[in-house]
Amino acid sequence: MQEFQDKTITCVDCGQDFVFTAGEQAFYQEKGFTNEPKRCKACREKKKAAHQNEQPKEEK
Ligand SMILES: [Zn+2]
Repeated sequence: MQEFQDKTITCVDCGQDFVFTAGEQAFYQEKGFTNEPKRCKACREKKKAAHQNEQPKEEK
């Protein structure tokens, strides 16, 4: 069994370092995700929130 270690990754959005924890890595592997997260949690939440707020808003 593979052992995971916390890993520090730099967020591509805000440039801040964030920790990709061992638990998250295990979760990712379990889900079959091969890519590491590129964004910190805050930016991911922001993106998610933006996505959820996606309303048909067309201003012309
Ligand atoms: Zn970020």
